Amino acid sequence: MSLITRFAPSPTGPLHLGHAYSALLAHDLAHAGGGQFLLRIEDIDTTRSRPEWEAQIYQDLGWLGLDWPRPVMRQSDRLDAYRAALEALWTEGLLYPCTCTRRDIADALSAPQEGAQIGPDGPVYPGTCKGRHPRTGAMPQGVALRLDMGRAARHPRYGFVETGAASATTSVSAEDLTAQVGDIVLSRKDFLGSYHLSVVLDDAAQGITHVVRGEDLFEATRIHVVLQDLLGLPTPTYHHHRLIRDAAGKRLAKRDDARAIATYRAEGLGPQDIRAMVGL
Ligand code: GLU
Ligand code: ZN
Repeated sequence: MSLITRFAPSPTGPLHLGHAYSALLAHDLAHAGGGQFLLRIEDIDTTRSRPEWEAQIYQDLGWLGLDWPRPVMRQSDRLDAYRAALEALWTEGLLYPCTCTRRDIADALSAPQEGAQIGPDGPVYPGTCKGRHPRTGAMPQGVALRLDMGRAARHPRYGFVETGAASATTSVSAEDLTAQVGDIVLSRKDFLGSYHLSVVLDDAAQGITHVVRGEDLFEATRIHVVLQDLLGLPTPTYHHHRLIRDAAGKRLAKRDDARAIATYRAEGLGPQDIRAMVGL
């Protein structure tokens, strides 16, 4: 099986050193193995994505010396696939509508005997809307849909192969999924789908064999393996890499324009300087 990696940025800001590291790693890994490096634009969140950031991504990656096949997969072209997967999960009774605001969830969690367990998506949902609405009939529109993790985690254990720096455990029990991850949102009120749903569908559609990404997404992989099982998709090998930090040890954020690739380029640095700066 030939090796296929990807870089999947969201066009919501400039690429910085952390993105460059991730893209270069994925690219180098694919090329070292005689495989292919693919690009995917994660623009599912239409409230935050901007065409000018997408254009800047192509420019920055090209300048870094990366190449990728075109046309590039864009999540905004994949809504039919996301809808079909949601419909399949809805038909199996694995989703339920949720009308809670962040405030409602915070209030429910501050009630006595409800400790706030923090999962990959923030506080574990207290289950307020579970059982409130019928799960039959047409899939509801314009409302958030949550995955009923208690039913979705149908195997005693889930695991994946990790080749990156992250040393935490790569397997998770159904009990821990219910208690520590909980009923995550799979389709948002303001747009169809969610990061977790689209990432597993897109990685499978692109035939990705090795997912290279930052270790900040390590915990989210516990969600992805459950979704892959439910949707009949293969689980790729994962490589979660260390995060690039600033001099103070803080991880770089999208708003860190000072470390944007475009800024370094404007200052006259070259791609080799960027490689050296991230330790490649
Ligand atoms: N689009 C995500 C981001 O920009 C990356 C998703 C992934 O690599 O799984 O952080
Ligand atoms: Zn709710």
